[in-house]
Amino acid sequence: MRVLGIEGTAWAASAASFDSETDDVFIESDPYQPDSGGIHPREAAEHMSEAIPRVIERALSAADGVDAVAFSQGPGLGPCLRIVASAARALAQRLDVPLVGVNHMVAHLEIGRHRSGFANPVCLNASGANAHVLGYHNDRYQVLGETMDTGVGNALDKFARHLDWGHPGGPKIEAAAREGEYVDLPYVVKGMDFSFSGIMSAAKAAVASGERIEDVCFSLQEHVFAMLTEVSERALSLTGSDELVLGGGVGQNARLREMLEAMCEARGASFYAPEPRFLRDNAGMIAVLGATMAAAGDTLAIEDSRVDSNFRPDQVDVTWRGAESV
Ligand code: ATP
Repeated sequence: MRVLGIEGTAWAASAASFDSETDDVFIESDPYQPDSGGIHPREAAEHMSEAIPRVIERALSAADGVDAVAFSQGPGLGPCLRIVASAARALAQRLDVPLVGVNHMVAHLEIGRHRSGFANPVCLNASGANAHVLGYHNDRYQVLGETMDTGVGNALDKFARHLDWGHPGGPKIEAAAREGEYVDLPYVVKGMDFSFSGIMSAAKAAVASGERIEDVCFSLQEHVFAMLTEVSERALSLTGSDELVLGGGVGQNARLREMLEAMCEARGASFYAPEPRFLRDNAGMIAVLGATMAAAGDTLAIEDSRVDSNFRPDQVDVTWRGAESV
């Protein structure tokens, strides 16, 4: 199965070709970089409409034929999603191949399952606009724990903007944290859910009161990533799974991976984090899951292919995992 995948939920205009016979993935991405502040939906959509044809052209020229076209159907910014969906529909019609609508968050975790070969992992999605821990039961991904306010990456980006650091803030905080030491910040886990807004306000207050920026960055990472690690561990315990996969752009952070790895090692579980090109938003994960879905016959008629900017992972009817369950 050879699939052309298209991703464009927020900042990454991306297209990929995937061949399930060879397992080769070619990804071409063109990121939107705001001049100032965070992601502006209108500017992101303008970038999408300009860059999507170009990245598709590159992915098509790398593909040895196309059997299906997959696209990110949501969640994400509505104006960006609509541009990507229009491109996918036009391409599927022109090539006369099936269209596959992929949930972007499920793609973030399925790429880890695909690359690790794990049978039934718990998945931590630590991305820009989201943060949740998922298990799989009764043909659905179940949200076992999630953020009560912002996505984890967006929270880090907001704090970085407060320091006048450009977007994205996560890598800059990671660099500064290497020189930092511990200061007290709030730690908020409630049941299986976590919250980032209080800790971000406290981090801003700590900077205002004269704490070293490096120390605040260090502690921010320690607190936020420990919260994600605690809930991931409880999800492993709850489901009885001994496999954890990481997904999402914040997963590029070495300290987060280190904490998750140490927790898994301590309880005898296996941990897998995909390579960075599959962690940040990318069309490779859309093409890979698109191929699995297309092989299971999970394709879309054009009239059923509207986008859903609030498409939750637990709304997806998982047609491709057969009888596996937790
Ligand atoms: P979603 O996938 O939920 O729609 P998104 O499109 O914003 O969100 P991703 O591409 O998954 O997100 O991730 C982008 C986020 O990853 C940004 O918030 C960025 O700051 C963060 N990030 C990137 N590298 C690092 C890093 N090294 N440490 C921490 N955060 C990072």
